[in-house]
Amino acid sequence: MNLSVIITAVYSFIFFLTPVQMSSQELSKSEKKIIKTIEKNHQFAIQFLEKVVNINSGTMNHEGVKEVGMVFKKQFEAIDFDTRWIDMPKEVNRAGHFFAENKGAKGKKIVLIGHLDTVFEKDSPFQEFSIDGDIAYGPGVNDMKGGNVVVLYALKALHENNLLNDSQIIVAFTGDEESTGKPLELSRKDLIDAAKRSDIALGFETSTGFNYATVARRGSSGWELEVSGKRAHSSGIFNKQIGAGAIFEGSRILNAFYNQVKGEEFLTFNPGVILGGTDIEFDKEQNEGEAFGKNNVVAQTLIVKGGLRFISEEQKERARSKMREIVKKNLPHTTAKITFNDSYPAMQPTDGNHKLLALLNGVSADLNQGEVLAYDPGKRGAADTSFVADYVDCLDGLGTMGTGAHTPKETMDLSTFEALTKRTALLIYRLINL
Ligand SMILES: [Zn+2]
Repeated sequence: MNLSVIITAVYSFIFFLTPVQMSSQELSKSEKKIIKTIEKNHQFAIQFLEKVVNINSGTMNHEGVKEVGMVFKKQFEAIDFDTRWIDMPKEVNRAGHFFAENKGAKGKKIVLIGHLDTVFEKDSPFQEFSIDGDIAYGPGVNDMKGGNVVVLYALKALHENNLLNDSQIIVAFTGDEESTGKPLELSRKDLIDAAKRSDIALGFETSTGFNYATVARRGSSGWELEVSGKRAHSSGIFNKQIGAGAIFEGSRILNAFYNQVKGEEFLTFNPGVILGGTDIEFDKEQNEGEAFGKNNVVAQTLIVKGGLRFISEEQKERARSKMREIVKKNLPHTTAKITFNDSYPAMQPTDGNHKLLALLNGVSADLNQGEVLAYDPGKRGAADTSFVADYVDCLDGLGTMGTGAHTPKETMDLSTFEALTKRTALLIYRLINL
């Protein structure tokens, strides 16, 4: 055996030992108590979930959203949190948000994010909670009343064991996640203010799998292309006086977007609707309209509405400026204009987010729940955590597991509910003791 082989052998021995020691780390006395309390409270957590799912809280049912908030308010008061309901100004046209806070200075300051509203409005046929074996059904049972209940019962377990003293934890349950109130400066102000007073944000949107968490998610925004051409008899198209018409110009632009802007990892853009011809009528709110045109008339007008998803502000701006350049190079006798609007910012895969994931991974290993990996940001939709990602380290997707979100077949998996609550409680406990 030569020296390098011996060194390699020693290193691999150490390498081998370290993870074994890590994964067999004992839970502390306090952590064991937390786990016991969560087990003791498990049935109550399911009953509480039933109660909040059975209150309709479609985003536009403002009374219902607030009622769910009030049910949570009582529970958070019982564990000594300061609570408040925040009404939105009239022009925002949303119910408002529920916030609760435990004040202190110890360890990391955390904001826990959930939402009270669902996509199922009062007139939806899907209104009731039911259980079949290990599966719970109900509107918002997984997206995300289940996640809110994970937050509540994790904190309850810490409180019952007197482990919340002197830690700063803000619970932020928004009332309009499924259809955010505008302007965002008003509807997301309280959430952003809470993040600015915190070090870390944990989001309890639906889990993407028992062994996945979200360290990054793409932002989303919209764009609108308007093109004009010269209305004339089609026999003259391509000649010096008439040019190419609006439809050829619109096609050139979209084709160039496809060939010249597409390609960066995580960048996607999608034209969702197009109308073109001699005359068009387009209702932007309803995303629908009518077009009129004839074979023998050069098209006068065209409109395209689309979306754009991105992993960073830089990527978004880069894509937008490429699009603007393409739009400028008009075919003869046409003009075109593109406008952009912001919706959700991106949550970038920062080192801080990955450190949080490593901490969660440690908790999961100590609970013998297996490794937790970073979920593919390209597959995850936008959510409230994105609004605070610039201010704090973030982790999302810590909520419950299930299927069929946003459909009348929405389910939540009760067999992992307790395990996920334990994981959350220990993650919070370790963060406030860092
Ligand atoms: Zn949601």
